[in-house]
Amino acid sequence: MTDPFEDLLAANREFAETFALSGFDGIAHAGVALVTCMDSRIDPLNMLGLQPGDAKIFRNPGGRVTPQALEALVLGVHLLNVRRILVVPHTRCAMASSTLDELRARVAASAGQDASWQPFGVVEDQEGTLEDDVRQIRAHPLIPDTVEVGGFMYDVDTGLLARRV
Ligand SMILES: [Zn+2]
Repeated sequence: MTDPFEDLLAANREFAETFALSGFDGIAHAGVALVTCMDSRIDPLNMLGLQPGDAKIFRNPGGRVTPQALEALVLGVHLLNVRRILVVPHTRCAMASSTLDELRARVAASAGQDASWQPFGVVEDQEGTLEDDVRQIRAHPLIPDTVEVGGFMYDVDTGLLARRV
């Protein structure tokens, strides 16, 4: 029986041979935290000129500021050296271009069963949602005003970030 993860584990053994992050602490060395989408077109460290160790990264469908994202940001700000927070949704995001019914229908078709009970954080107004998400961080009682918070749109076709909030 072959392990379906074997190719990845083989790559990992190669990675470990030249592993340079041993003994590294877990703080954000560049003082950056990023909330962004799970989309595979986004390369969060490279797009900001950062290296492993520089940033805390929280990803979910749509790059939304959920309760868990806020939990991560509070920890980042107080325990992990975070001084700047970027919220980064992106162009052509499935969460912003589909309705809840459409997503459920596509998942149901793939799963071959009902998916109408599954919640999905669909975004109807991407710009307005980004404003709300940034506002939520700024208004959080445990995130002080000294922390810079910005909302940016990432263009998956050009690689450019544009500040929106
Ligand atoms: Zn997305």
